[in-house]
Amino acid sequence: MSSLEQTLSIIKPDAVERNLENKIKSFFTEKNLKILKSKKIKISKDEASEFYKVHQTKPFYDALCTYLSSGPIIVMILEGENAVLKNRELMGATDPSKAEEGTLRKMYGISIDKNSVHGSDSVENAKTEIGFFFK
Ligand code: ADP
Ligand code: MG
Repeated sequence: MSSLEQTLSIIKPDAVERNLENKIKSFFTEKNLKILKSKKIKISKDEASEFYKVHQTKPFYDALCTYLSSGPIIVMILEGENAVLKNRELMGATDPSKAEEGTLRKMYGISIDKNSVHGSDSVENAKTEIGFFFK
């Protein structure tokens, strides 16, 4: 079954810093995920804490929020057939050392915390996350 979906993608500070924006965007478009909207922003730690609040009980929560607010990020709405799962597949595993060959995190991720990209994990969360960044 296929369905046209939208998902939220973020190019995280480690990847923006290494000028990977264009490479990552080309990767998505070559794989038939259309970039409907894109903006470069820097968020506050409070905003990062709100965005990642599902992780508030995790031991890495504070470091994660500090990190996401540490430098510019690119937030994007991707659209395509099964875009949510497709983006997760293109990203690869959370830990780059466990990600499959050819995935973004395998190619560009530095470590589990500096793993270059974020992607919504469900259609429901995609709607919430898109709404968070694109009012
Ligand atoms: P994903 O980004 O693959 O959806 P999670 O939602 O589980 O992964 O975690 C959100 C983010 O928190 C990850 O992308 C990563 O940056 C960070 N993170 C996850 N697990 C750890 C960990 N064990 N140690 C440090 N950071 C982590
Ligand atoms: Mg997640």
